[in-house]
Amino acid sequence: MDCIFCKIVKGEIPSKKAYEDEKILAFYDINPQAPIHILVIPKVHIASVDEINEDNSEIISHIFKTIPKIAKEHAVNDKGYRVISNCGDDACQSVKHLHFHILGGRQLSESMA
Ligand code: AMP
Ligand code: ZN
Repeated sequence: MDCIFCKIVKGEIPSKKAYEDEKILAFYDINPQAPIHILVIPKVHIASVDEINEDNSEIISHIFKTIPKIAKEHAVNDKGYRVISNCGDDACQSVKHLHFHILGGRQLSESMA
């Protein structure tokens, strides 16, 4: 499968890691939209939020337990941060491997769309 985030997990494409454990990886977005812009992904390939189900949702729980730790390590927990997952074409999902953007480090726009 030609998935760039699977290649990042395998180390075939370099990334600047922010967090890693046996199940998930967080790395800095190559085109940051805010001073802190980190992507959190499951190591297993899940295409998008739309593919979350009973069988794979444990990893989502793990991701969301880890996000506050990553936010704290990057000192955005006090002032706040945004967590986004684009799902599908209307949402402009460009990489079809589930990822959660953590954005922070400045006042973000009120606009959600
Ligand atoms: P999305 O548009 O929500 O699918 O987000 C995909 C994100 O992946 C974008 O913000 C890209 O800048 C980022 N991205 C694409 N390739 C890489 C890469 N090799 N390393 C880090 N971030 C990447
Ligand atoms: Zn993948």
